[in-house]
Amino acid sequence: MLTGLCLVSEAAELAARRHSGQHRKGDENEPYINHLAEVASLLASVTDGADAELVAAGWLHDTIEDTDTSRDELAERFGARVAGLVEEVTDDMTLAKSERRRLQVVDAPKKSPDAKLIKIADKISNIRARIFFEPDAEQKEELADYLAWAEQVVKGCRGINARLDTLFDEAMAHAKDTL
Ligand code: ZN
Repeated sequence: MLTGLCLVSEAAELAARRHSGQHRKGDENEPYINHLAEVASLLASVTDGADAELVAAGWLHDTIEDTDTSRDELAERFGARVAGLVEEVTDDMTLAKSERRRLQVVDAPKKSPDAKLIKIADKISNIRARIFFEPDAEQKEELADYLAWAEQVVKGCRGINARLDTLFDEAMAHAKDTL
C-alpha cells in the first residue's frame, strides 16, 4: 500500500491526468488541477502535514464526480479510507443541480470529520475563484448565490479544525466585500 509522499504524489498525478483538459469556473479560465492543488494544500497546511491520506483525498475529491473514476479503483490504488472520503464528498450527478445543492446542506452534518474538512476546503477554494476585481452584475449575483449556499453547507461542517474555519470566514468576508 502506498503511504506518505508516495501516496500524495500518486494521487496528484492521477488527478492531473483524469482532470486534464477541464477548466474551473472563474475569469482566469484556470486549469481544474489548480482547484485540486488548492484544496489539497489547504488540508495539508491546517493539519500540519500530519495526514497523507487526507491530503491524497483532497487531490482526488472530484475524480468520482467529474471524471471516469470509480470508488473501487481508488480503493485499490489508494486504500479504503481515501476512497471512502472521496465517495463521501461526491454528489449524485443523476440529480438536478438544485437537488444536489439541497442535499449537500442536509447531509453536511452527517459526514465524517475528515469529509467535513474536505468540504470546507472545497468551498474556500470555490469562493476564492469567484472573487473578481470589479465584478459585473451577473458575477455579483452568482457570487452572492454561491456564498449563501456555501455558508449553509459549512455551518454543518464546522468545529473540526479552527484554522480551516477561520480561513473559510476570511474568504467569506473578503468575497462579501466585493458585492
Ligand atoms: Zn472541488
